[in-house]
Amino acid sequence: MGEQSPSAVFHQDVDAVHADLYDGLFVHSLLQHETNQQASSANYPSPNTSQDVRSTWHRFLDDLCFMCDSRCGGKSVVALITEQVQGETIFWLTTDPVYQDSAANHLDAILRLLKESIHAHQDCVRLSIEQIAQQSVERSPQRVHHYGSRLRRIVQEQIPRAGSEVPLVDVALHKELDYIVSVRDLHQKLCDVSYHFRYQAGYALLKQHIEASSEDTWTRVRHFIGRLGHWNRTAVSLARVAESFASVLQNYRIASIPYPDSGEKPRLTLDEDLKELVLRVFPNYRATPLCDRLVTRISRAENLLNWFRSNRLVPRPHAEVVAMEFCCSQGMHLVSSDRYVACSKPSCYCCSLYMSHHPGGFRPRPTHGNVWVLWCLPQLFHHDQSSTVNLGILRRMANDTRNFSKASLTNSRTASRRKFDSTTGISTAATGPDR
Ligand SMILES: [Zn+2]
Repeated sequence: MGEQSPSAVFHQDVDAVHADLYDGLFVHSLLQHETNQQASSANYPSPNTSQDVRSTWHRFLDDLCFMCDSRCGGKSVVALITEQVQGETIFWLTTDPVYQDSAANHLDAILRLLKESIHAHQDCVRLSIEQIAQQSVERSPQRVHHYGSRLRRIVQEQIPRAGSEVPLVDVALHKELDYIVSVRDLHQKLCDVSYHFRYQAGYALLKQHIEASSEDTWTRVRHFIGRLGHWNRTAVSLARVAESFASVLQNYRIASIPYPDSGEKPRLTLDEDLKELVLRVFPNYRATPLCDRLVTRISRAENLLNWFRSNRLVPRPHAEVVAMEFCCSQGMHLVSSDRYVACSKPSCYCCSLYMSHHPGGFRPRPTHGNVWVLWCLPQLFHHDQSSTVNLGILRRMANDTRNFSKASLTNSRTASRRKFDSTTGISTAATGPDR
């Protein structure tokens, strides 16, 4: 057998690192899923899950992203970086190519309204807020409908109806919830009443129920009302801080970061034999009880196992990493030298871990800590110089993932429920208190 070229060796290395990482991610995500089914209250070991260290500028950018993300299910996640070039601010935006133009146009409309509202009369500011909220709700009908339906189902099917077992003290709360779900298809009104719910008497009662109840019905009620009211709330937040960023908004333009087309996408497959999978991740578990214990745990994640086995598993790059890699490849100077990648959602486990190991000095951002196995780097298929750097990061990610799984296995009561992927609940760990 002849000597292999350095490039061929590198490709083998890439394949081995990816195989190791995805094996670990499969195990970790199954463990997380199983843990969710067995819900307990402590923290699942994950990177940077709860502390929100964002500055006002970071929140402002995240809020802009949220307003431009119009679809459910992570289909149109938006990421943003802001470059400073000779007195001009460039808002670089990326999302799925299908939504790119629409998101960029909407971002432009919001920034224009915010710019006009700076130093304007209070009535003008109020009008700008209304327009920003209204336009954002109008372009997100699927999201409003989805959250409204979920809320209606919980309120009508899982909460005792008025006139049956409702304690007298809860009547106000029930009336308010009934009113919200009665609005149904009037999207703007549904969002308005959901936003104003936090100022009603019923909200205090809802919080008491959440504190007192061991089930999550009331938490989910609050979550979906929070989501429905989040466009209004975000419009208020944006207008409130816009003046602080007057110089940035003075002279700006929007530009698009191309979403990578990775051409021939590799497919992932989950090993049919879970024991083989476990032993690849933890070879030293062979002939120890830990192997069987881990196989038993991940076998219980039946829904996720079925999903893995019945779907085409094609990984894709997530928007915040696309923006981050674009920033590095262009050697960009970001506004105030603040290397923050904004995104419409908290980052997933992989994005967060990747950022934490990246040498680019990017600021940490909120994460829900949930593991999505179908994750990859934008440059996965380009075995170029930059991939060499990233390979080291992927190796560290694989090691961390192994360690997180190990910690979860050896301390089975240190796991928590899967968190909501969005920050749009009225209050969540990722967003901090109401703004
Ligand atoms: Zn991600």
